[in-house]
Amino acid sequence: MPCNSEDFPVPCDRCQEELPGSETLEGEKSTVEVKSCCYVRYPDGAVRLRNPNIELMDQDILYHLALGSGSHDLQQMFGDVKFVCMGGTPKRMEQFANFIMDEIGYKLPAGTTLLDISQYSYRYSMYKVGPVLSISHGMGIPSVGILLHEVIKLMYHARVKDPVFFRLGTCGGIGLDGGQLVITDEAVDGMMRPYLELPVLGQLVQRPSKLDTDLAKELKSLSTQDDPFETHVGRTMCTYDFYEGQGRLDGAFCDYTEKEKLEFLHKIHQNNILNMEMESLAFAALTHHAGIRAAVICVTLLNRLNGDQVASSKEVMNEWQNRPQAIVARYIKKHMGMTGPAPRPPPPGPKTVVNSKKLKFVREESQSYE
Ligand code: URA
Repeated sequence: MPCNSEDFPVPCDRCQEELPGSETLEGEKSTVEVKSCCYVRYPDGAVRLRNPNIELMDQDILYHLALGSGSHDLQQMFGDVKFVCMGGTPKRMEQFANFIMDEIGYKLPAGTTLLDISQYSYRYSMYKVGPVLSISHGMGIPSVGILLHEVIKLMYHARVKDPVFFRLGTCGGIGLDGGQLVITDEAVDGMMRPYLELPVLGQLVQRPSKLDTDLAKELKSLSTQDDPFETHVGRTMCTYDFYEGQGRLDGAFCDYTEKEKLEFLHKIHQNNILNMEMESLAFAALTHHAGIRAAVICVTLLNRLNGDQVASSKEVMNEWQNRPQAIVARYIKKHMGMTGPAPRPPPPGPKTVVNSKKLKFVREESQSYE
């Protein structure tokens, strides 16, 4: 969108700031990035979409969430959201929702339980606990990318102000044993390029995969010496595949030797890459493009310099996966100013379904849409 278009204001000084790119595996400097904060916020901090089409639409159906701007009162349902936490699986994010409920002392009315708000999508799951949304993003860049389009639009429809997004995940450590935390300061692709490249209308578009470095530092400062794990800040390589994409020897195919694999892993390790996973590039690129502060915090399941198979017991891995949750919970509690009494849920408000005919339509669409 051009700076002087009617839909967007003239950019501020921050918008005009140019940031140098970093070096890729091919030894190139990546493209220079221009910040664009004016495009993505209303004066009150509410999320602004970089797509003028949406406000012209009669209703916006968020297919993969089984929600819609015509069928639901999205502002009433989500207007108080402050923290959006995402992770791979529905079960894990349900468990996080219950964990954060205990942590912030949020009490549900007697006889009720948390509800999966997106249950009719049969794709992603979503739980809301006060100001916290806990959403599963599935596996890989396409899955997290589709979800982010819809969650960013959800923030816009709900007029959410200055939300912070987190990805809580698992990863392979590079030089780090299982159970350690890595907070990403820069996400890069398999060529060490710090942007997401995607074909749009037959052209390759590059979106810088920037994360909020202050947020990363703050999360790191919330780890303590008593934690039974180390917390590191560094670069994350995000790949399009778990096997060949991450240089594993145990996929269905392998056209390289163990020596070549280890040379590659040592090379990226020397370039301060601490871990590998499959979602951070899209997570960073889309949140950055939307002007949303975001962080990626992952627990290592193994040290890839020592092997490929994820072989720790279920119990051990379950405990490890609680570790990113613990740090994010500390952040949420700190920013909720939780030194005083625990928050209570608001009294029942007006109905959240505003049009039951449209609701039926949205549910049917979400179930049939592939
Ligand atoms: N997730 C990944 O993408 N890679 C690993 O090695 C472990 C978890």
